[in-house]
Amino acid sequence: MNRVLKLRQLATADAEFETKSRRYNAIRAALSDTSAIDQLQQAEQTSAAELKILRSTLRDRELELGTLQAKYKDVYQSLYSGAITLPKDLDNLHKESKSLEQRIGKLEEEVLSLMASVEEYEASHAVLAQETQEKLACQNTERAELLREGRELQPLLVELQKERQTLRTVVAPGDLKLYEELRAKKRDTPMAEMIDATCQVCRVSVPSHQASQVQTGDKVVLCIGCGRILYHA
Ligand SMILES: [Zn+2]
Repeated sequence: MNRVLKLRQLATADAEFETKSRRYNAIRAALSDTSAIDQLQQAEQTSAAELKILRSTLRDRELELGTLQAKYKDVYQSLYSGAITLPKDLDNLHKESKSLEQRIGKLEEEVLSLMASVEEYEASHAVLAQETQEKLACQNTERAELLREGRELQPLLVELQKERQTLRTVVAPGDLKLYEELRAKKRDTPMAEMIDATCQVCRVSVPSHQASQVQTGDKVVLCIGCGRILYHA
């Protein structure tokens, strides 16, 4: 096998490894980031807690109303039972019943308004809970998909790593050194294809004597424009 072909095989394996490992790392990062799920759950929990407070306030007011109504009933009965005859006592009872009536009226309004609020909140909470469930289901599907992809990638990366190591033992040490230097300098694209005596990365023409060397692939030729190792497919 000619020198350049060996380098090309190595470059292909390296590029595939880079792409797949970048994807693998992105998957791992996405799976470890649960902020979207946390946010959804947090919003639903907050809404549920607020609804709970509203319901509890309504219950308190209803109890308070029940107590006042019972008290009013007692006062009313005392007032009209005939058992109390002293005008001063009757007058006090009368005042108390009026005061209770007022408080009951206000409280009834408050209870009605709270009931309406609870109803409204229950409806919006139900919508939120439904949306949260749907979004969570969606998130879980996405995560399951990522997990599956990650599990498939892992053995492929192990294989590619082995292949890269093997290919590095096949390439001549001098060529490997040059290749690694270019790989570091040229952002993982150390090689460039030559078509019609032109470098396909930088579009610079390759002198004819070099172009024929590139075609045979027995000699490592660097592009005079971008410095990459030229190959002919
Ligand atoms: Zn070039």
